[in-house]
Formats: sequence, C-alpha cells, structure tokens
Amino acid sequence: MLSFDESFKEEKGQCCVQCGKPLSRWGRVDRRFCSQECKNHWHNTHRMRAREKEVKRILRILDKNRDVLANLLKMDKRSANHATLKDLGFNENYFTSYEKVRHRCVYSCLDIRYEVTPKRIKNVRILNEGTDE
Ligand SMILES: [Zn+2]
Repeated sequence: MLSFDESFKEEKGQCCVQCGKPLSRWGRVDRRFCSQECKNHWHNTHRMRAREKEVKRILRILDKNRDVLANLLKMDKRSANHATLKDLGFNENYFTSYEKVRHRCVYSCLDIRYEVTPKRIKNVRILNEGTDE
C-alpha cells in the first residue's frame, strides 16, 4: 500500500527513473531519484553506455578505413589521393598508430600501414607482409 505522498507522486508520474519507486513529495521539485544509490547507479550506467557508444562509433570508422585500404590492395593499388580516399569513405582523422620514420609520416589502421604525403596516401601494405619493418 502506497502512502499518500507516494500515491500523489505516482499519479503525477513522478517515480525514480532508476528503480521506478514513487518519489516522496518532499524535496526538490525536479528530483528524479529516490536515493543516492539509485542516482549513482543511473549515472554510472549512462556514462558506461555513452562510452560504449563512442567506442563503437570509432571502431566503425576504423573498420571502414581498413576496408577502404584493403580494397585498394585488392585492386593492386598501393596509393590514392586524398580526395579519392574521402570519396571512398576514408576518414584520415582516425588511425591506430602514427610514427615519423626519417622524414616520412607512417600511419597504420589496425594491420594496414600507409604513408601520408600532402597529396596522397601511399605505400599501403599489410603489416606482416615482411617489408621494411
Ligand atoms: Zn530509486
């Protein structure tokens, strides 16, 4: 049996967003949680979901980048200009490693390596192909 306060809040649809328990009518008008535990639980869960969503978004971009590079290799191409890559869906802002080797900018997207010059991406190769690394 709900108390008068609980019934009052329930009628107005004011329940804890975490556990669904009706909120006491006392306290701040904009209260959303019945307790500090529910508040912490809800915020931790939502922070985790936001992080997972962001990680998935980044992995999708990296996966797409790897696809684009792998397709170049399948077509026996080891380079392409920036505009072409962009058209193919390649996002140059995302990569899994970067190093400067002498004067070259060497990037990798998972297991595929490539060099970036002002005009193009070149020397695309699969990491374990046993070239110069
Ligand atoms: Zn609660």
